[in-house]
Amino acid sequence: MDESLRERVMVRLERCVGCRSCELACRVAHSQSGTLWGAVMEEPKPRRRIFVEQAAESPAPFLCRHCEDAPCVRCCPTGALRFDETSGLVAYAVDRCIGCHACVMACPFGVVQPGRGDLFVVKCDRCEGRDRPACVEACPTRALVLETAFLVDRRRRAVGRFVEAARLDISEADLMAAGSAQSP
Ligand code: SF4
Ligand code: SF4
Repeated sequence: MDESLRERVMVRLERCVGCRSCELACRVAHSQSGTLWGAVMEEPKPRRRIFVEQAAESPAPFLCRHCEDAPCVRCCPTGALRFDETSGLVAYAVDRCIGCHACVMACPFGVVQPGRGDLFVVKCDRCEGRDRPACVEACPTRALVLETAFLVDRRRRAVGRFVEAARLDISEADLMAAGSAQSP
């Protein structure tokens, strides 16, 4: 797959109100029944793969970034975690996992959790098989959005231009004029 078309879940921190709808939707999506009532009644309870934490003054959702050079992949001794070039996801193969939990310690974002029973590790699979991840669908404020790498890079470049313009004291009108002159 063209790398620029790979999708990622992006977090827009300023929009998160800390309602935890994403956590609930994640649990339901990873329950055996796939329904809210079924998930509530299930034992053991389905685990979430997204974590809404209080960061400074505001809530912030943390979830797997499916890093291309992932520390969890690098430290996995059996290849149970690997970056899939086609999907752009860090995939987990439970049948190769020995439960050493090196990945739990290696992830800098703390989003791989020790599992229970036969499932040694609990990690985001970006709701494989669904068009959009459950957390993205459930977020009422669109603090979580699915975007292609192309759009993410374009946004980053635009923000970079505005920051540079502010540093050089260039007016917004001049910046926009320069931008349209560069557009095809
Ligand atoms: S579990 Fe952590 S280190 Fe591994 S891909 Fe996800 S964010 Fe990156
Ligand atoms: S559902 Fe959206 S607004 Fe609610 S906690 Fe999750 S990210 Fe924040």
